[in-house]
Amino acid sequence: MEKKQAEKEIQELRSQLDEWAEAYYSKDAPEVEDYLYDQKYARLVELEQAFPDLVTADSITQRVGGQIDTEFTKVSHEIPMLSMGDVFSKDELREFDERMQKLVGHPVVYNVELKIDGLSLSLEYEAGKLVRASTRGNGTVGEDVTANAKYISDIPQQLPEPLTTEVRGECYMGKEAFVKLNKERDESGLPAFANPRNAAAGSLRQLDAKVTKKRQLSTFIYTWVNPPEEITSQHQAIEAMAKLGFHTNETGRRLKTVDEVFAFIDEYTEKRNSLTYGIDGIVLKVDDLSLQAQLGNTVKVPRWEIAYKFPPEEQETVVRQIEWTV
Ligand code: NAD
Repeated sequence: MEKKQAEKEIQELRSQLDEWAEAYYSKDAPEVEDYLYDQKYARLVELEQAFPDLVTADSITQRVGGQIDTEFTKVSHEIPMLSMGDVFSKDELREFDERMQKLVGHPVVYNVELKIDGLSLSLEYEAGKLVRASTRGNGTVGEDVTANAKYISDIPQQLPEPLTTEVRGECYMGKEAFVKLNKERDESGLPAFANPRNAAAGSLRQLDAKVTKKRQLSTFIYTWVNPPEEITSQHQAIEAMAKLGFHTNETGRRLKTVDEVFAFIDEYTEKRNSLTYGIDGIVLKVDDLSLQAQLGNTVKVPRWEIAYKFPPEEQETVVRQIEWTV
């Protein structure tokens, strides 16, 4: 392909993706299905890899996709809230594992978790008291949703220990609450939320926290930003956060081989429709926290984790299943 032609296509892709991202992140109302967004995004990555001098800092491939609603108080994330690399096939997962092994020089143990279909939430505690809750926003600056978080019943307002610390996780809306909310919206002549992820985002990102109170939001906490020294792995961090009273997802598993990871994927491809919350894939995280630190991050994603996204036809099955079963 000629450079000029690539430049034109890159510009068209960026402008299209920016428009879709704005609808998805700012208005919580996606204009297209995720698989179409992901396809165009992958094409942009392909072109930028072929013509690296056409990469610009404002390209969606170089920044966390979200934006901040200016009406919210802004919160700076001292440690950025990043996005996550994703793959769509088991072959690409194997390549990820090979890359990790090459980078660290030995086989790697992974903590494998479900990829919860919601939005990232940061919770900050001072002397054990919840003082701030915020969204990911653009990764370095998020929106203050502390008042809203007070109405999410599984978020501890007070920890059993006087810790000054930060945890992060996913705020989500369970399938039953999602169907109920859309039914109510339909009866009131309001547009339905496209999926539980958008419903959760639209319910948390409310200037009037009383609206959040009426919606049934939940959390799964999976990251301890600054754990105590004795915590040396992701799976230990999750266990310790559960002991502090956070709602953690119990399906996570420490796995040593890619074949075990494939079996986990197959298991949850089967089970996902029967879960009470939506998932859009699984996440592979290098379990050892010191290896995570050694591997570090790119401008957009941690190098030590990757999401395997379920194929689109299975995602559609889930939406249909929600409609049928609740
Ligand atoms: P992402 O949502 O694909 O993955 C990163 C996020 O996963 C994290 O920020 C975190 O919130 C979440 N997550 C869930 N479970 C987790 C776990 N166990 N551990 C760690 N993190 C977990 O990435 P993104 O940058 O937020 O969004 C990009 C994706 O959003 C695209 O791939 C696309 O599918 C979708 N999108 C769609 C549209 C659209 O128009 N349909 C527009 C923009 C983005």
